[in-house]
Amino acid sequence: MPSTKHTHKHVEAADIAHHVATKLDEIGQRYTSGRRMIVESLTAAKRPLSIPEILETTTGLAQSSAYRNLTVLENAGVVVRVITTDEWARFELSEDIMGHHHHMVCSKCGWVDDVRIPDAMEHELDAALAKVASKAGFVMAHHRLDVVGICKACK
Ligand SMILES: [Zn+2]
Ligand SMILES: [Zn+2]
Ligand SMILES: [Zn+2]
Repeated sequence: MPSTKHTHKHVEAADIAHHVATKLDEIGQRYTSGRRMIVESLTAAKRPLSIPEILETTTGLAQSSAYRNLTVLENAGVVVRVITTDEWARFELSEDIMGHHHHMVCSKCGWVDDVRIPDAMEHELDAALAKVASKAGFVMAHHRLDVVGICKACK
């Protein structure tokens, strides 16, 4: 059995700024006020946000600079792009920061929310997926799974 680690380990809220600054420094970038606003907005949201949502929760951040800063944060491995069912990209902090989790995605409106699965169930999932992978001669490192359906608002 591969020893995949699904402890819901994440960076403590107080240490996020330090973690982000370190990751940015590794690619020769600074933790500017614009980047700080984006990270704080994503931290508070606890679900992936679209650029319009990020702009709603920040003050004085232009759309063009939100795009640029998100790209830098993505390159630093701090922010990841979440694929849903509509054309809007959504962004969230990496699993390094947020801990391992899954997404519930609405196939009608593209709404997406974080879902955390109990550790025991994560271990069962890992074992089942590792078995499938090894039958295909594939060495599993970790998994990504989305729950796709219809959200409350669209029902
Ligand atoms: Zn929906
Ligand atoms: Zn998420
Ligand atoms: Zn999982």
